[in-house]
Amino acid sequence: MSIQLTSLQCRIVRYPINEHRLVFSCAGRHSLSEYLVVVAEDASGAQGYGEAATVPIWSGETGQAGQSILETVLAPALVGSTFDHPHEVCDVLDQVLIGNSFLKGAVDTAAWDLWARLQQRSVSSIIADRDPEPHIPIRASIAGHGVEKTVELAREFWDLGIKTLKFKTGLDTEDDCRRLEAVRNALGEEPRLTVDYNNGLSTLPEAVTAIESLLPYGLVLVEQPTPRDRLNLMAQVRRRVDVPILADEGIFNTRQLEEAIELEALDMLSVYPGKNGGFTRSLEMSRMAEQAGIPCVIGSNQESDLGQAAMGCLAASLTAFPVNQHPCDLGAMMYYLDAETTLRRPLDNGRYCVIDADAGFGVTPRLPR
Ligand SMILES: [Mg+2]
Repeated sequence: MSIQLTSLQCRIVRYPINEHRLVFSCAGRHSLSEYLVVVAEDASGAQGYGEAATVPIWSGETGQAGQSILETVLAPALVGSTFDHPHEVCDVLDQVLIGNSFLKGAVDTAAWDLWARLQQRSVSSIIADRDPEPHIPIRASIAGHGVEKTVELAREFWDLGIKTLKFKTGLDTEDDCRRLEAVRNALGEEPRLTVDYNNGLSTLPEAVTAIESLLPYGLVLVEQPTPRDRLNLMAQVRRRVDVPILADEGIFNTRQLEEAIELEALDMLSVYPGKNGGFTRSLEMSRMAEQAGIPCVIGSNQESDLGQAAMGCLAASLTAFPVNQHPCDLGAMMYYLDAETTLRRPLDNGRYCVIDADAGFGVTPRLPR
């Protein structure tokens, strides 16, 4: 089945944030969700959909810039061509544009959605190497608040059935100890506590001291402790601390993953199509990591249900994602109030409900006029 691409368009959409749960960290504040919905159309009139979570502090992208690049660079390079497989679309994206991984991720995801819809198959049925998991346990993010608000949010997520909590740390190390101690005191030993420094620790001594100060509270994972362009430093930190390291913004693409594996810089990898510049690339990276014995989890830029459909498909369908041992960042619906394009999926006892798609990724967005 081939795609004869006749149109590639996008719309900018904005989702109001739930201020109470707004995420801020060493990487800044996620205070505006301005996303692009990409629509790819085939000669038959069939459509496929993708979403780019364009957050400038994360990938340097904005909705306006993405729309302009799509109209002036990507559409002219792709429309009018025929593709036998979505990875051919992804290869063209990389040939004509540097960076802009979330925009590329949306276009490639739309191509996968369209290609699967043309075959009247779900994407999961095409890629799965196991019976898809129906539910995926969630890891909930708690911003770098003081002690009281940290405990309030931890209790709120715990009461929703979420067993694994992720604290944004690194804004104040002493405060981080008090925050985790207070959560342990309030909720006991059962919650799995993880932290995400979002690049916040700049030197080896600083990183070792900060991470070791939190180990008495039973940390199970430390995410992206060091700056995103310092894989070697992350490898040094990993050798010094007795807790697994999850690589997030340090590894966007396959080349960085190769380098990180060579350096032994990570224990686990955060994967998702926006960060990786395509669903195709996420598949490649998941397989590379699995071959190196590195489990994958889904990371997030707080995509709506449209973006999360592709992320959930990966996590549910592939053995590279041991989701019952390692929860995924698939709880974005808890952080925005309303997405005009899709319905918010309900949680099932702290778990993301994987979409059982008839075709594609199974989400058709309502697009504003
Ligand atoms: Mg992260």
